[in-house]
Amino acid sequence: MKRTEVIELLAALQALEYETAELGPANPGEVARLRQSISQEMLQYYDRYMSRGKKAIAWVRHGVCAECHMQLSSGAYADLLRADDVATCEHCGRYLREAPPEPVARKTAGIAAS
Ligand SMILES: [Zn+2]
Repeated sequence: MKRTEVIELLAALQALEYETAELGPANPGEVARLRQSISQEMLQYYDRYMSRGKKAIAWVRHGVCAECHMQLSSGAYADLLRADDVATCEHCGRYLREAPPEPVARKTAGIAAS
């Protein structure tokens, strides 16, 4: 499995366990399935943030970490854009995930939400 796919799995897990927490308990079967696909090492890292009520994966938009709002160095940003490795924020340590292009997301948000 490519490491970027692991980030997608972690992001899905985070969405279940963190972002939808207000809507009720996450689907246990889906959570278990995702956790089985992710290495212990990455899960431990992820759980360290989650246990403190923090997101373990941060979006990056225009080279800025969305969680700590710090600008990444060009080297760290290049690591993120290179799809063969998992990048972490050099400021807050979170796993980084490239954000989708903003204008598209914003334009379709209202329409697609119904
Ligand atoms: Zn950060």
